[in-house]
Amino acid sequence: MKKSLLLISLLGFSLCASSYNGEGSKAKKAAVEACQRGMSTINRVSAEAIVGFLASDALEGREAGHNTSFIAAEYVVSQLREAGLEPLDGNYKHPFSAYQEASFRRPGRTWYVHPDSVARVQQGPHRRMDMVNVFGVIPGERTDEYVIVGAHRDHWGRDTWKVGDQIYNGADDNASGVSCVLQIARAVKQSGKKPLRTMIFAFWDGEEKGTLGSAWFTCQWPKMQQVKAYLNFDMTGGNNQPDNPPYFAYIYSQENPAFGEWIKNDIKQYNLKLDPSVRPTENLTGGSDQGNFVAHGIPFIWYHTDWTPYYHQVTDEPAQVNWDKLVEITKASYLNAWNMANEESY
Ligand SMILES: [Zn+2]
Repeated sequence: MKKSLLLISLLGFSLCASSYNGEGSKAKKAAVEACQRGMSTINRVSAEAIVGFLASDALEGREAGHNTSFIAAEYVVSQLREAGLEPLDGNYKHPFSAYQEASFRRPGRTWYVHPDSVARVQQGPHRRMDMVNVFGVIPGERTDEYVIVGAHRDHWGRDTWKVGDQIYNGADDNASGVSCVLQIARAVKQSGKKPLRTMIFAFWDGEEKGTLGSAWFTCQWPKMQQVKAYLNFDMTGGNNQPDNPPYFAYIYSQENPAFGEWIKNDIKQYNLKLDPSVRPTENLTGGSDQGNFVAHGIPFIWYHTDWTPYYHQVTDEPAQVNWDKLVEITKASYLNAWNMANEESY
């Protein structure tokens, strides 16, 4: 039984998709069925509901440090509660603050969260921005090994001086990613199977101000050494190639070749309508929240539908989202999350 598991890992086959015939197959078959049961809960209506709320004009672009980002946080907490997830370290909401130099001569553009930098900034005139990360947990058999699945919840807010449409709705960036993480969390829960590793679902604040939420978490969470992998979502509903809608970028740490095999095998096995640009990379510290995990040497996968004409524009609205692709990406990444949580090695 163990041998076949090892072989499956080496071949990079998805644990979820593999068929288990013969010896010791009962538990394996049940695991496969559980995985597929969870995946069957992922749907377009939920994606439209989640993105529709978060990217509505009422949420005014969810800018970090503003009330609308806190409202988005409350919404995510309510979704996690309803799905049956547990809080992290006793709380769903983890507040934190970033600090910035306040000077008209040298306007400080960088927000800092690391205690050493904060101590330096606080020596002079400074500004403070309060934010909140949100987390939900599904405990695994192993409570000392973690897999984190995350997306940033904030966007650019509202420009009250702008003439015309003032709201940066951030449907693709990154209500779409939040939709992926929420649906994956619910799917894992509904599978009915306890994962091998403990799964943490993260909804970062302050990404648009400099990946602040994930920077804060990774610089002070005491169990960072026990994080085995990070699955990131930033922009998963865009149409970068209008003549090839299923296109997206699948970026992963090149030290983990199994990650590259997983996506190919899962697309084949489940006939997913996706056309990934599979990109193994080394030390990708920029671009999104995965950078703070890379800095800690943690393997990652990042789903990204690439740049669009409406990137960081007020036109990034739900009407632009490719819902079918968003659902297919949610399914594919659910399988990744399942493998990260359940495979012995990768
Ligand atoms: Zn983003």
